[in-house]
This record gives sequence, structure tokens and C-alpha cells, in this order.
Amino acid sequence: MSLLVQPRLINDPTGDPGLYLDFQFGRRAILFDLGDTSPLSPRELFRVSHVFVSHAHMDHIAGLERLLRLRLHRPQPLTILGPDGFVDQIQNRLGSYSWNLLDDSSVDFRLVAQAFDGTRITEAAEFPARKRFARLEMPVPSLACGVVLSEPEFEVHAAALDHGIPSLAFAFRQRERFSVWRSALDELGLPVGPWIDEAKKALRDGRGDEHEITVPGARKVQIGVLRRRVFRASPGQNFAYVTDAADTRANRARIVDLARGADQLFIEAVFLDEDRDFASATNHLTARAAGEIAGSADVRRVIPFHFSARYGGSFSELAEEVSAAFSR
Ligand SMILES: [Zn+2]
Repeated sequence: MSLLVQPRLINDPTGDPGLYLDFQFGRRAILFDLGDTSPLSPRELFRVSHVFVSHAHMDHIAGLERLLRLRLHRPQPLTILGPDGFVDQIQNRLGSYSWNLLDDSSVDFRLVAQAFDGTRITEAAEFPARKRFARLEMPVPSLACGVVLSEPEFEVHAAALDHGIPSLAFAFRQRERFSVWRSALDELGLPVGPWIDEAKKALRDGRGDEHEITVPGARKVQIGVLRRRVFRASPGQNFAYVTDAADTRANRARIVDLARGADQLFIEAVFLDEDRDFASATNHLTARAAGEIAGSADVRRVIPFHFSARYGGSFSELAEEVSAAFSR
């Protein structure tokens, strides 16, 4: 079965945190955190539609300059979301440049900034290049609690963690997938066409068996027939990205809720357990805590990152500590 997205860490585990989610179909990508993006090509950055930023420490947002500079002369809009106060932070960033060369004849690029308070999006503003990035308030999208993006094929969920300041963790959850038995289409005399997407949507929405889909030739077919004979359902992919969080009971509970059952959990493992005093002083997770959380969340695979430079290039101990705690 084809995969919707392919996630990969942008940097090696000692570099800036960040995850690039590459969509297999359609030229599109999503970024989680925006620190050093030098391993990503301009082509890869052109595809980014949304950036979800955990918090505004420099190693998570310093890459905004490169992304903005690349995107400034292309019309595809870009949405960037972060914790409380994030819209003001983006406005301040944009305010530090001279934009006198932009006017109504410039490319219609728009940066949309949103702030999420741990429950919902509380603020949204648009910064159009043609208005020299002046701030225009926007209505906040009405989404379910904990959801920051909802599309027909997937949702992105978020949770606010304590890192001395709020730090957001994210989960990408693909909805149930439906693939088509071509032989069944032939048997029923049904052509391939846009009606298949309509049928998939009806299945995802849980429509009853009698619900009818119109196929070419003005024929109507009941969704129940399609469900039994034409479509094969399988669970969607599920990834979680967790970084910069203190090891507190509340954080653990929130991460476990967010990452439960994930196919892959990308989670920081900054210090060894023997250095947990450093971890608590800087509000980070130890490798052991990361492994324990991954175990409690019952994820299939845990990928640790954000290793402290104090271990001088030998990270096997950190990775082993995560694995040991995970398998316990
Ligand atoms: Zn931080």
C-alpha cells in the first residue's frame, strides 16, 4: 500500500531539531520546527505548505529567513504556527527588514501566522508581501480541541508542553485509507474517475450503506456495495514529533496522549539519565525518559534526536538508553 508521507529528521541528531514530512503524491511538504535547514534543497523548501514550530528558541526558528527569502517571489501561501505570542514574534521578525521594494505589483505571496494555546488556535494573522508584510487580522479556524490542521486525508494535532516556556509537540494522523480493487471495478462495470474520491470521502465520513454515489452514466451505486466489493480499508500513518520538554508528570501524560500508537515517535533524548540534573535545569528529557514515554505510548518505533554536544560525537549510549527504557 502506498504511503501518504515520508518523515525524516532534517539534521543529524546533534544538529537543530526538525522533521520534514514529504508527501508522496502532490508537490507538498510539511515542516516541524524551522532551525538549520541547510540539508534541505530549495526545491524541497518550495513544497512546504505549513510549518509547525514548537517554540521560538533560535534552534527551532532561525531558518525562517532562508525559507522566507526563497518563497518571497512565489505565490504559494505559507502557514506558520507556534505557541502563545507567536503571531507577535513573526510580526517583529518581519518588521526588522525594509520592504520598500514591495508594492501591489509584487508577487502575491502571503505568510499566515497562527498561535495555539494548547487547546485551540487563538490568533491568526496574514502578512501579504504586496502590503509590505503589514499585519491583517484573520478569523481563527474553527477546529476540534487539540487540532491545528484538518484536511480530507489527515489531521495535525498539537499539545502544549512545559519547557520553562510553552513548547508544542505535534502528531500527524492520516485518516483511514481506502485502496481500490481494480478487478471489482471491472466486474461491476465501473470506470475509474473522480467519483472514487467522493466515495472515499463518504466512507471516511462513515455514511450508511444506503448512501448513494453517482458514477458516470448517471448510475447510482450504494456505498455499502462499494465498501464490500471495491474498497479495501487500512489504518492511516501516524507520526509524533516531541522536543524541548521538561520531564514532568503532566508533560509525560500529554505526550503519551498525543503519541499513543504512533508508527514512529521522533522524540528528544538530550542527556543521559546520569546527567538528569542538567536535563531538569534546562527543561529537557533524558534518553531514559524518552524511552519510557515511548513505551507508555505503545509506539511501534522510537527515533531519538536532539543529543547534547557534551557527549562529543559518541551517541550510542544515548540511543541504547532510549532502547533499553523503551523495551522495558
Ligand atoms: Zn528550547
